Amino acid sequence: MEQPREILLIKNGELALKGLNRSTFEAILMKNIRFRLRPLGKFSVSSAQSTLMVEPLEESIDFDQVCDRVSRVFGISAFSRALTVEKDMNRILDSAGPYLRQELENAATFKVESKRADKSFPFRSPDISAMVGERLLNDFPHLKVDVHHPDVLVTVEIRDAYAYIHAAQIPGAGGMPVGTAGKAVVLISGGIDSPVASYMMAKRGVELTAVHFASPPYTSERAEMKVISLLKQVGRYAGRIELLIVPFTHIQEQIRDNCPEELFTLVMRRMMMRIAQRLARQAEALALVTGESVGQVASQTMHAIACTDAVADMPVFRPLIGMDKEEIVQIARRIGTFDISIQPYEDCCTVFTPRHPRTRPFPEMLEQAEQALPVEQLVDLAAAQVRRVYI
Ligand code: ATP
Ligand code: MG
Repeated sequence: MEQPREILLIKNGELALKGLNRSTFEAILMKNIRFRLRPLGKFSVSSAQSTLMVEPLEESIDFDQVCDRVSRVFGISAFSRALTVEKDMNRILDSAGPYLRQELENAATFKVESKRADKSFPFRSPDISAMVGERLLNDFPHLKVDVHHPDVLVTVEIRDAYAYIHAAQIPGAGGMPVGTAGKAVVLISGGIDSPVASYMMAKRGVELTAVHFASPPYTSERAEMKVISLLKQVGRYAGRIELLIVPFTHIQEQIRDNCPEELFTLVMRRMMMRIAQRLARQAEALALVTGESVGQVASQTMHAIACTDAVADMPVFRPLIGMDKEEIVQIARRIGTFDISIQPYEDCCTVFTPRHPRTRPFPEMLEQAEQALPVEQLVDLAAAQVRRVYI
């Protein structure tokens, strides 16, 4: 006889299907699950009878890790961990109690629900539920049945190949599968905000390419390593992210030497947008993403954002725009980026910071200031010097 195995069941009702073609959605979700589980071993990920099934194909696979990884795949609102049992009533009766022991010991009430997809199975659903319920009452004498609000809902499913037993649902990451919404370029710094912004866009199904501006020797290699670590954390949700590192020193020096000090930061941010946009076009991305939020710093007042936005002619998404720092920090902690973000390596934004930045600038002021720069040439040069890093 085969060893009892655990699998994951993800029901259609637990997929975030909205306005999308179901088969495309499922195909992308399955691909993402496979990709995320690959480091843990061999799996079969399949779809049948409106359920996705994730089965480990190697004995050595740590199932807790499987659940952990799947709980971070966007497009799943909940899933269940289930025991695979031979389609034999005695086996089902013998397996349910031991498999669900922990949940049942911690519960006061329960209910059994059965679903018989395979109509050739010799017991009907209500009979299966009654038999399993009776056995559980017998084996866990403290339990009572509550058909309306049970602490534990024990589910027995009789499917084509096997029967499955499961109870608690595990919350998923929600959102849409990454890759169902096209691609965007995120401007990623080493700060707290842009990794959270990346996470939020990936949650809506957007595939990300990251662009980071580095200004050696003013910024160190450690700052780059920090960005890579941040993207690894975000990648636990967003999947594979390509990173483009743009050398920015020359541009910053040009700005320092030729532009009014009070506009340094904004000219720099406009250069970032122009270059990011160029790279977005090359990567066939449809939008830019930043971690800006209104009023957080001088370069993020409404006036300043309008000036930055003026050089972009593709949509610029700012998913944190209306959030307080505290709310952003909460997400950063939850997704595991906060502790990395607060490491103290210099970002290029803190190089040549004006003492008194202008908080109510107008685009015309910036256009005027930029006349002292060979803007197009600088963009061409920077875009040509990009270094590609695979995370
Ligand atoms: P963050 O915490 O994301 O660094 P912040 O509040 O520190 O944001 P700024 O440093 O002004 O704000 O940057 C605003 C946005 O500009 C960032 O969220 C990011 O999207 C982008 N940005 C800033 N610095 C860089 C950089 N070195 N490379 C790429 N993008 C950057
Ligand atoms: Mg920053």
